[in-house]
Amino acid sequence: MTRLTNIILSTMLLASLSACETREAAIAAPPSAVFAQAWNAGIDPDEPAFHVQEIDANTFVLRQSLRTSFEAPFLYLLLGEDKALLIDTGAEGADPRAEVDNLLAASGHAGLPLVVMHTHGHGDHVGGDASFADRPDTIIVGHTAEDVAGFVGIDQWPEDSGALDLGGRKVDVLPTPGHHASHVMVYDPVTRILFSGDAIYPGRLYFVCDKAGEYAASLDRVADFAQTHQIDWLLGGHVEMKAAAGHSFGQDGKARRGEHLLELPGSALGDVTAAFAGIGDYPRVTPFPEFMLLPHPADPAGMSPPDWCKPA
Ligand SMILES: [Zn+2]
Repeated sequence: MTRLTNIILSTMLLASLSACETREAAIAAPPSAVFAQAWNAGIDPDEPAFHVQEIDANTFVLRQSLRTSFEAPFLYLLLGEDKALLIDTGAEGADPRAEVDNLLAASGHAGLPLVVMHTHGHGDHVGGDASFADRPDTIIVGHTAEDVAGFVGIDQWPEDSGALDLGGRKVDVLPTPGHHASHVMVYDPVTRILFSGDAIYPGRLYFVCDKAGEYAASLDRVADFAQTHQIDWLLGGHVEMKAAAGHSFGQDGKARRGEHLLELPGSALGDVTAAFAGIGDYPRVTPFPEFMLLPHPADPAGMSPPDWCKPA
């Protein structure tokens, strides 16, 4: 999400989304098939700055606390034999370096070279970059599409995909602009997880009205990729939906009850792709059970959702 979008939505949009912002008793999410614990959601005011869970011995997920950012973004750490990859660094002010180094040390990989890459360049995904600025053997990939394409070997952006070899673990990097110009998803064949950033997650899928086609084309390319690569789960940048289908949290609380699970099944790719394919003449704010399409004007002054992308 952009800071502009944040300001817009916190002042204008959420009130009009009240139909989706229900105050009913929280419905608990079903047990996770991926994570041992429910994610911290700000219930404990003293919860740690990051909640860390492992998927396997070489794959870790860090959630920034809702107490430090309403975005509560998720960061992903993948270990290979030669280097580690950190996908995203959190929201502004995040300091995930100690967490990352602790995980490397605890898993017997202290000092492993680190690549810091991002699903996209929005502030809630690159906010902790400075934490790694003076870390030895660390590369921080830039935030533009050109930076990412150059690093992972993409000649034709966004049509081609790139790759990053961590040593015994080679991930695919799929350009997926639409939410943001430099957006990528990362596919890990070891876990069969697609790290889907803010393009697909259980929350509000934000895009500027005239980017719907670009977003849809990105999803179509990922759907093609999925024809030849098994995707068990999609793990995105945030959770904003409630476990109650079609309902989302606002941005005003530091504690949440009844969050949707972070992970979406591989079939969610088809659900989101179909939602974009069904937009019609213009995109409008539309809730679905596990996500919400949230198109918005680049300059929303004087306009109101859900039909604020409608041509004049
Ligand atoms: Zn985000």
